[in-house]
Amino acid sequence: MPEGPEIRRAADGVAKILIDRPIVAAEFGLPKLRRFAKRLLGARVSAVDTRGKAMLTRFDNGLTLYSHNQLYGRWYTVRRHRLPETSRQLRVALHTSTHSALLYSASDIAMLTDRQLQKHPFLQRIGPDILDPELTTERIVARLDEKRFRNRALGSLYLDQRFLAGIGNYLRSEILWAAAVDPMARPAALDARAQREIARQTLRISKWSYRTRGVTMSPTLARRLKREGLPYERYRFFAYGREDLPCYRCETPVERRTMGSRSLFVCPDCQSAQ
Ligand SMILES: [Zn+2]
Repeated sequence: MPEGPEIRRAADGVAKILIDRPIVAAEFGLPKLRRFAKRLLGARVSAVDTRGKAMLTRFDNGLTLYSHNQLYGRWYTVRRHRLPETSRQLRVALHTSTHSALLYSASDIAMLTDRQLQKHPFLQRIGPDILDPELTTERIVARLDEKRFRNRALGSLYLDQRFLAGIGNYLRSEILWAAAVDPMARPAALDARAQREIARQTLRISKWSYRTRGVTMSPTLARRLKREGLPYERYRFFAYGREDLPCYRCETPVERRTMGSRSLFVCPDCQSAQ
């Protein structure tokens, strides 16, 4: 399932072909949205924002297309009239004179006014986006200290979109490994230095993964492992998917655990409670 950085990259692709170019045709697969096709004619996309795994395509006529990819949704950006070969169902097509942005398979799609957007139940519930340029280390530390979060185990908090939006399963393992914290630890039990380190690694790993298309480890190490001929999965992550392989910090074999019904990869030595 794509996580925040992957959704942000998809948004970049949509923004690149649509921003400031008039929509010359629009199609909607879901009957409830068909009435909007005409209202988009001549409108231009002013921004494509993301909130966690939701994408907000903003038009200059005051409407915003809300879409959540869930498990199967996927955006394609293509030259006009060159539909991709796929058996997926087309849900949204936004055409300019030269290009098309196409959303397949997603079903959680709505066209909203600004007011409806502010009241949207999912958007109201979720925390700040991990790639929001205004999200700072201090703000994450403050969230870790909030009453509703500070007594939760980090391993469960780091999958909860109400805490921070956009973190999924691989980022959870990678951030907790990079910060060298025990996934069972509660923020309230950590000292200020450890809290700050988690916050710092949250931003660092998320931004890095966005820039590198989902590679979280250091570029030097990734290059070396690639040269050694390791498969992609093996030089992509510090901990995720590396069950039984030596930890890059201490060489203790990485363990796979289950937390929040999903796999979590942990070094039992450098991520044990201090
Ligand atoms: Zn280790």
